[in-house]
Amino acid sequence: MISDQPTRWDLTNIFPSLESEEFKKAFSDTSLLIDDLMECFQTKLAPLAVDEDKTVLNKALAEYVDQLNETITHAGKVANYIYSFISTDSYNKLATRLLSEFEQITVRLENQDVTFKNWLSGLKTRVDEIISVGGVVEEHAFALKEIVHFSQFLMSQAEEELASELNLSGASGWEKLQGVVTSQLSVEIEIDGETKKLPAPALINLRSHPVAEVRKKGYEKEMQAWKSVEEPLAAALNGIKGTVITLNKRRGRKDAIESAIDMARIDRETLDAMLSAMLDSFPVFRRYFRAKAKRFGQEKLPWWNLFAPVGKSETKFTFREARDFILENFLNFSPDLADFAARAFDNHWIDAEQREGKMGGAFCMDIPGTGESRILSNFDGSLDQVSTLAHELGHGFHNDCMEKANRTQLQQRTPMTMAETASIMCETIVSNASLKQAKNADEELSILEGMLNGDSQVIVDIYSRYLFEKEVFERRAKSELSAEEFCDIMERAQKATYGDGLDESYLHKYMWTWKPHYYSAHLSFYNFPYAFGLMFGTGLYAIYQERGESFIPEYIDLLSSTGLGSAADLAQRFGIDIRQKSFWEGSLKVVEQRVKRYEEI
Ligand SMILES: [Zn+2]
Repeated sequence: MISDQPTRWDLTNIFPSLESEEFKKAFSDTSLLIDDLMECFQTKLAPLAVDEDKTVLNKALAEYVDQLNETITHAGKVANYIYSFISTDSYNKLATRLLSEFEQITVRLENQDVTFKNWLSGLKTRVDEIISVGGVVEEHAFALKEIVHFSQFLMSQAEEELASELNLSGASGWEKLQGVVTSQLSVEIEIDGETKKLPAPALINLRSHPVAEVRKKGYEKEMQAWKSVEEPLAAALNGIKGTVITLNKRRGRKDAIESAIDMARIDRETLDAMLSAMLDSFPVFRRYFRAKAKRFGQEKLPWWNLFAPVGKSETKFTFREARDFILENFLNFSPDLADFAARAFDNHWIDAEQREGKMGGAFCMDIPGTGESRILSNFDGSLDQVSTLAHELGHGFHNDCMEKANRTQLQQRTPMTMAETASIMCETIVSNASLKQAKNADEELSILEGMLNGDSQVIVDIYSRYLFEKEVFERRAKSELSAEEFCDIMERAQKATYGDGLDESYLHKYMWTWKPHYYSAHLSFYNFPYAFGLMFGTGLYAIYQERGESFIPEYIDLLSSTGLGSAADLAQRFGIDIRQKSFWEGSLKVVEQRVKRYEEI
């Protein structure tokens, strides 16, 4: 029986402990498996000529793919087991040391991966023919073709090696500098007559402080603080974007967006349709911003009221009540989903207790090869935390659907665009149920505020980030940009998206300084896949509302297949054309209903 108190997760069925013989053996077996994989490559694949018979190539490739799946399943299980200790107890020295040792071991796996990809790209003109022979290779057709596709955008092996070595002292150094500068920045601020020294993340959190004056003061301090470090951060951003532009040119990429689109497994048509629907939805969001401003006696919203709390929810849940509430509402959707969630709660797959040394936020991870997942959250009894649990259980259910369909690790690799499908669906189920059961107008308002604030960040703010990054890339290709220019681009991006929803005299021109996403050399345009995820999940929910039960089997089949095709092909199964704007408009209609209600209360 589940207790009233938030549980800790249990992984003793995976391994008894970090000190156990079973775990030690699995840890050292990882090396042996990597040895075997390398040997399989050297003896079976490497000696084959490009014009070798297709059946011979197919057979050898099948052996390698099987062995690769076995190795990454094993390594993933060991790594996630270790991570379960680190994420719940950052003081655990043994786990920290083991993870670092494990990373040393798996570097060889990454190198082998590069070798294999190079080999496969040498066969690019014959891949279809080899796949057509069938078997394991055919079952992995999508993953193999994707490797070949990405390989056309590689420089020579020597150039790639030099680029990755130089990255350590270049782009990656700039990225670290941004992390160090922003995390070590601290500011003195007076709150309730007391002067406190706050680190930047705590200062940012003042945005949702219940007292208006504190939020305003926090905003002003934030602006001064970012100004004081704008020069090193502008240098870092110039360094990183410059590197990406140079490498993209040498790799034959049209622009930085092209590789981001590829990684998201979508195409430009889809991105354009989605962005265009987002753009059209801004007037609706601006209504929400203005309605919110009105509650504070303002006409337009100053930045420091953007995250201000509105309404009040007094409903509190014990952990058991949260479980019952989630299960009841999941059951209305699908018994399979409810069964999965019951399994997760009752078998202690969830670490929900708040405690010292445990990481904040929430996540879900699968434990490869076991058919199980684990969920971390910080449960405080609020409605908000109940939807977080529902969200993470959605990720777990997604994993479960893939496991039940016997997908291999390579077949489970899901891009960011599709990874949020089940989690958004589950979160929507629970949020809608709590809206229906709201005890009074104040509680309804607070739930709606939570939903709309989240939606507006994902739709409106992410669009402004997209505009910012696009212009930065275009202009950086010609010359470096000054801190002032970065601020100017950001302000214009915010005006173009928030429009008359925000007070123009209080925008946030320094958003580029502290968002780490802009400082990744590996992943440009980090944010739009989240907008895709939210709208795709919401769009599917709208279809579910129309079709009812008949939707479920196809939906489960879709979840089990998110590693097997492009987003457009997978959506096509529902008759959805994501290259058409109308699909995205349908999702955004749901938001409009929420705004209407928000204005009424
Ligand atoms: Zn998620």
